[in-house]
Amino acid sequence: MATPADVAAFRATQTDLVTVALAELAEWWEQLLALLTGDVPVAQIEAFTADLVAVYGDAAALAAGDWYDELREHADVSGRFRARMADPAPQGQAEAVARWAVGPLFGAQPDQHAALEHLSGGVQRLVLQPARQTIADSVDADPADARWARVPSGRTTCAFCRLLASRGAVYHSEETAGGLANGYHGRCDCVPTPVWPGEQEPYDVDAFLEEYEAARAKAGGDPNAILAQMRLDLGIN
Ligand SMILES: [Zn+2]
Repeated sequence: MATPADVAAFRATQTDLVTVALAELAEWWEQLLALLTGDVPVAQIEAFTADLVAVYGDAAALAAGDWYDELREHADVSGRFRARMADPAPQGQAEAVARWAVGPLFGAQPDQHAALEHLSGGVQRLVLQPARQTIADSVDADPADARWARVPSGRTTCAFCRLLASRGAVYHSEETAGGLANGYHGRCDCVPTPVWPGEQEPYDVDAFLEEYEAARAKAGGDPNAILAQMRLDLGIN
């Protein structure tokens, strides 16, 4: 069973990969802009972003696969199974994120800082994407009836993630089909964590459920109204 310490350790390895990727991005970005004379080389930024998230996304997915296998080895389940490693973010997706991120360079007052901020958020999400996908895909393929929970981590957790966390370890392909559970906003540091039958989630699900129910009692059944209420009540995003 994953303990809070297991989740924290895994999150730290993922955060390290993101940190190194963002440092590489920032260094490259600075050089690019220092040498820039004419038009913004959007294609070059797209290509760099795609390569960067492929390299670090692969490492993140590998770590996620190892983590899954290790947790499963200590779980009370029978049968052999190995984690399914997901591919890095597709090149086209990474290019689209980069294209969107550099928008502020084309305003009436080009804003390099905002562009790098956007791009950094996108790179963080895309580096972690294959790791998150590795957990979700492995849960789906695991014959031992695994589920995953969105385990909040870090200092603040947004209302959207708290709502998903309040449901505990329910997520698998049928549960998430067409739903929002596989969506992660930029800079989200929640950790999808596998849970096998008979195990407990490595966080206080009830506390999040109480929060959610308190907001629901005031706001009614509409999910967006509930999220707005949670933001108001908890003073969060
Ligand atoms: Zn989150």
